[in-house]
Amino acid sequence: MRQIFPVLCLLAANAVHAAPDSMAFTVSMPQPATHTLHVQFRCEGLKGELQDFKLPAWSPGYYGIGDYARNVFNFGAADGSGHPLPFERTARNTWRVVAANAAAIIIDYDVFGTTSFAANTYVGYDRAYLSPSGVFVHAAGELQHPVTVTIQLPAGWKQVATGLEPVPGKSGVFEAPDFDVLYDCPILIGNQEYLQFSIKGVPHFVAIENVAPQVSRPRMLADLQKMVETATRLMGDVPYRHYTFLMMGRGNGGIEHLNSASIQFAGDRLNTDPEYLRWLSYVCHEYFHNFNVKRIRPIALGPFDYDQENLTNMLWVSEGLTVYYQDLLLVRAGLMTRAQYLDKMAAAIGAFENSSGRHYQSATESSWNTWNSGSGVGVDRNVAISYYNNGAMLGAMLDLKIRESSGNRRSLDDVMRGLYKKYYLEKKRGFTDAEFRRECESAAGAGLAEVFSYASTTREVDYTKYFLMAGLKLESAPGEANGAYLGVDTDTQEIPPAEMPITAGRGGAMRGGPGGRGRGGAPATRLVVTDLAAGSPAETASIKSGDIVVQVNGQLATAMELSAALLAAKSGDSIRLRISRGGVEQELEATLAANIARTYKLSLVGAPSAGQAAILDDWLRTAQ
Ligand SMILES: [Zn+2]
Repeated sequence: MRQIFPVLCLLAANAVHAAPDSMAFTVSMPQPATHTLHVQFRCEGLKGELQDFKLPAWSPGYYGIGDYARNVFNFGAADGSGHPLPFERTARNTWRVVAANAAAIIIDYDVFGTTSFAANTYVGYDRAYLSPSGVFVHAAGELQHPVTVTIQLPAGWKQVATGLEPVPGKSGVFEAPDFDVLYDCPILIGNQEYLQFSIKGVPHFVAIENVAPQVSRPRMLADLQKMVETATRLMGDVPYRHYTFLMMGRGNGGIEHLNSASIQFAGDRLNTDPEYLRWLSYVCHEYFHNFNVKRIRPIALGPFDYDQENLTNMLWVSEGLTVYYQDLLLVRAGLMTRAQYLDKMAAAIGAFENSSGRHYQSATESSWNTWNSGSGVGVDRNVAISYYNNGAMLGAMLDLKIRESSGNRRSLDDVMRGLYKKYYLEKKRGFTDAEFRRECESAAGAGLAEVFSYASTTREVDYTKYFLMAGLKLESAPGEANGAYLGVDTDTQEIPPAEMPITAGRGGAMRGGPGGRGRGGAPATRLVVTDLAAGSPAETASIKSGDIVVQVNGQLATAMELSAALLAAKSGDSIRLRISRGGVEQELEATLAANIARTYKLSLVGAPSAGQAAILDDWLRTAQ
């Protein structure tokens, strides 16, 4: 498999690709303020009349098809003597070069990067972030080839932070055993703070941008160290030679990688305890992914197919169980209290139980559909769930049931260690849905049909039974939540080609602009009312099931626009909806009601049995 420990892989790959074959990138940013970087790719040893060069259609860890080639300009190809080679675009992400068996092919292109996001490349006057899928082309069929990257720093920049292996004695030169590793190693460049700690002699680098100066750096390092120690102790291994946290203190969005993580957050807000704890939990999530998803992984998630979606039912395992462990590890590291943990778990249950999407979509369906809906965040939350918080609850139920069935001798920790050993270290592959279930049931020594049915169906979850295994009771009560209530379920549906508006201005519910395509080339969509609650403000306002919502308060209607309008309103406010029914548009106004949601609380039962107390103490232990 490709995603094994880089150094071992390098040895194996070098044996196959002996010199003088080489693949080498040079990245320069002569004018970073123009948001442009220049890439030169020199390939030696390729044979053939034609050679395809491709960018991936997506980026590891971000489950959505992108269009990185649209940011590539001034593409050119030449042979080793500088004579131009003809080329043509044969697909969105493919350049076909007439190489005519040239001994060397040199590709040159510019990459434009204006959006600062963990899955995008950004270049600015003072910093650059290279998301490798959008920067580095590969020769088709040559993903296994070793590759080097030379970064030429603009004047005044001093720092390159990346999981790539530095080439000894060559400043700014890095190597990867293959393109899978290259595509899993983003590169942060500029003048970041650069801190370091070690675990079992393995260096962990922390590149920091825009974190308020009053946030104690020693505290950050000490807490990250406790977090990594707790995670590696749980798994019994430190599976990399070095690890790099790319702490980008602006924006929002994190992506895990093989031995690094790109983490965007509001660095100016970390000086309050709740925000700091939220940040630690989020960092712990991205860090624990180096085990769960990068190494312990569903079989669909590596080796990757970079040309299309890599579909799996198990993102609730890869993402949801990572959410479960992100906080459990903080409890065990002494960084989160039991009470904070239980409050957060109860809030996640509330978010799930109060969502209408739970009646429509299971965790396995949410996993499968994520490529259409944007990395776990449903296009329409009314009919979709998040495998993040649902997966975390399923993790808790699996863990508690395994503990109860095995007399607290085994837990989900044993499952994770077993998957790591059996599938990552020994079989060197991912696991199937059935193999994952088998590992869980073998740890429990019993069937786990009910928990797995919660993952694959929309049936009601009996939380009470599971939390009682640890002597905890779950109570809930109706209360008034933020925002206001309309009482509609909606669905974001593709517009059939025959009904596609001719101009961008008509049929205002269309997403995606004049091209008629949405995110990543997704079809244009519209917001459709699928259900109404009896006696709701929507029903009183004569909204009907099947209505197409065109505008919300005068704005283009999307699920997010509707949600935001309801969240910003309060009981008694009105909302204006322009709807289309049978091809006729009309304006309707509804008076919103109070948003009643159930709140949940987890607390200890009065007199737990010895078995319940043992499970609770072992589950939420602080292990220093
Ligand atoms: Zn994640």
